[in-house]
Amino acid sequence: MDSNRSQLSPMLRLLIPCLLLLLLLSPSPSLQQIQDSQGSTGSSNQNKAKAKIPEIHCSRERSRAAVKVIDEYLMPFVEKENYQLPNKCKLHPDGNLYKDQEDHKIHYDIHEWRCGYCRKVFYEEKYLDKHFDNRHFDLVNASHGNCLADLCGALHCDLVMNSASKKGKCNPAATAKNRHSCENLADSCFPVQGGPSANRLHELFLRQFCDSHTCPARLKPFSRGQRKRRSISYIVICVMVLMLLPLFYVFVYLYQSGIRRGTQDLRRISPDARKKKPS
Ligand SMILES: [Zn+2]
Repeated sequence: MDSNRSQLSPMLRLLIPCLLLLLLLSPSPSLQQIQDSQGSTGSSNQNKAKAKIPEIHCSRERSRAAVKVIDEYLMPFVEKENYQLPNKCKLHPDGNLYKDQEDHKIHYDIHEWRCGYCRKVFYEEKYLDKHFDNRHFDLVNASHGNCLADLCGALHCDLVMNSASKKGKCNPAATAKNRHSCENLADSCFPVQGGPSANRLHELFLRQFCDSHTCPARLKPFSRGQRKRRSISYIVICVMVLMLLPLFYVFVYLYQSGIRRGTQDLRRISPDARKKKPS
């Protein structure tokens, strides 16, 4: 037994420091690992946030086109009649699902789109749209807002969109559906029993938007015209003309007075020259 103890003790003496060394070198959570774990929880939080993003089946681009049509081809007449659109009217500008977000778009330059909520800047409008979808989805009025893109068929949105589809064969079923939707809008927004203004606007809406929903299309939409906008280039040209016009008149005046002075000098010189000539 004693011999065994004496054999074990040097072994233990070697083992204990080894065990201590192993304990010291055992993998403790490093900074990198902490950051990674934080990152993983961050990404899991992001995934949770993504999971919370409500799915909205409403085209932002087509909604924007509908807003443009309403603003350019309907509102000038509504404003002229001093008419208040009823709340149930789906054309009401405040009912747009994306109104708050669209109001928070700041377009500084061709390639500078700024988010009005967090001031982030984007190169193109489509990236700002994506940013709204990911970061500010909670500001979409999904519960009370209308999807204006749904009205695009009735309102001829394709005509104001850049990617206007080429005119294909007239589809009688789709045309009839669009006409029905168009007439429903006229009835709900401008009820015939709503007074003379509502009556006039009801008629105008039918002429402006609904009458062209025929197969084949006999009439063009927006026959009653649109809002006249003065473009920035037009204003710049006007300002430049107003600035250059006085300069032009000053130049003409100086030029003419110069000619007059020149002829007077010639008149003065010529008698003197005649006097000197005979000698
Ligand atoms: Zn933002």
